[in-house]
Amino acid sequence: MTATEKKVFDDILKSLEGKDQVFLVGCGDCATVLQTGGEYEVNEMAEMLAAAGKQVTGRVVPDASCKILDVKRLLRQNKEAVDAADAIVVLACGAGVQAVSEALETKPVVPALDTIGQVDQFRLGQYYEWCSSCGECILAEYGGICPITRCPKGQVHGPCGGANEGKCEVNPENQCVWTLIYERAEKLGEEPAAIGTAYREPRDYRKTTHPRQKVFEPRRGG
Ligand code: SF4
Ligand code: SF4
Repeated sequence: MTATEKKVFDDILKSLEGKDQVFLVGCGDCATVLQTGGEYEVNEMAEMLAAAGKQVTGRVVPDASCKILDVKRLLRQNKEAVDAADAIVVLACGAGVQAVSEALETKPVVPALDTIGQVDQFRLGQYYEWCSSCGECILAEYGGICPITRCPKGQVHGPCGGANEGKCEVNPENQCVWTLIYERAEKLGEEPAAIGTAYREPRDYRKTTHPRQKVFEPRRGG
């Protein structure tokens, strides 16, 4: 899922200078799970904006704010309240904010969240960035553990040598990913020392050139 964090409220207010009527859009998917943009947070934001002298003309929480057509439909259904607003405050990831921009060509859109990245959920309230969408997955060579994302230096040819008792020298709260990779290799019956030693073709950075897109003909029946 996509991880987000709440922006400092004063920064949101700065973006809303001169805009007194606001409409709020949350997200019923990732931002709800991460407690940054669900019903609760949208209502909380409405209260904070009201206390700061803003008038909230309406609010919606789409099932997923990154679904552009669904967002358009929901905003059309709330046309009067949307039209009455000077700006739309969006409590969703950057993809959700841009779905709203796409839906409302002439309305200023203000993000209320910062987007951190893609995360795995361990349990509710515990999330880890384990993939950075590099577009050329090499997990098969590393026992299913990503050195690109889980090593701050992106070491793909072995550890940097700075680990202390298996902890990363950059952030000792984390295990050095190479400790994890070696331990897993042993469990898989593979030779740890061989991992990352093979010649690697230079990465094809065309696969990470932004903006990427994925367009395909969906199978009938989903
Ligand atoms: S190699 Fe790492 S960053 Fe790239 S797709 Fe696989 S898990 Fe994600
Ligand atoms: S200690 Fe391990 S995870 Fe940390 S930067 Fe070095 S190789 Fe990467």
